[in-house]
Amino acid sequence: MQHIVALSGGKDSTAMALWLKENEPRDYQYVWTPTGNELPDMLDHIVKLRDLLEAPILPVSIGIGLIEKTKIERMLPNPRARWCTRKMKLEPYYRWLGQQTPCVSYVGLRADEEERQGMVFQQGNGITLRFPLREAGMNEADVWQFLDDRGVVIPARTDCAICYHQTLGEWWRLWKLHPDLFEEGVQIEVWISELHGKQYTLRNASRDTWPAALADLRKEFEKGRVPPRTVQQIDMFRGERRTMTGACRVCSM
Ligand code: SF4
Repeated sequence: MQHIVALSGGKDSTAMALWLKENEPRDYQYVWTPTGNELPDMLDHIVKLRDLLEAPILPVSIGIGLIEKTKIERMLPNPRARWCTRKMKLEPYYRWLGQQTPCVSYVGLRADEEERQGMVFQQGNGITLRFPLREAGMNEADVWQFLDDRGVVIPARTDCAICYHQTLGEWWRLWKLHPDLFEEGVQIEVWISELHGKQYTLRNASRDTWPAALADLRKEFEKGRVPPRTVQQIDMFRGERRTMTGACRVCSM
């Protein structure tokens, strides 16, 4: 019987994996589903986690990155067409999991989020689901305390660098800290827009009064404009002890 722990790098799955190692030691197969568009902090976190778990963390992916896949799909990911999660995370993971039976699949859902399903994992056909955080009665505060007690720091963002779901402040932070990744977002918007002869943007133009296109947004940032509350956000997350939006709930498993 295989014991499979799906990791997103977020607080819940990180705490679950460490809790299992401490409380139910056995050979686990750790797995994550990268899109190739992760932030450096996230990649560092996976490496540190691998060291803490003293076991490899298997990447399950489609073999190409989010930017390349966007060109194949000829469409930017967006809330109404969230193909990125489905095609780059859920489907490859389901395929892989279906080949590991019989197995127990451990899912990092907490006791205080009974309504949340996370990934719609397959059950049956040799796959048994377990929810260790719920079984242990751990809520969000317990999870943070567990991680703090062990000195484990969760990256401020665990979702994709160019995720359409991020806030304006997160885009500013991406531009400021990772201009190369921001530029990839600019270029993919230009590529898709030229392909269809119409402007498409990752940001939703109706969310605020700032330019939607990343190329135009960057011009505003370069002029010194900083989105409201961004500086406070950075102060707040200095030390990287809390996730910023947690917006991508499925992607954070
Ligand atoms: S983090 Fe955002 S861009 Fe990445 S797979 Fe999830 S929804 Fe898509």
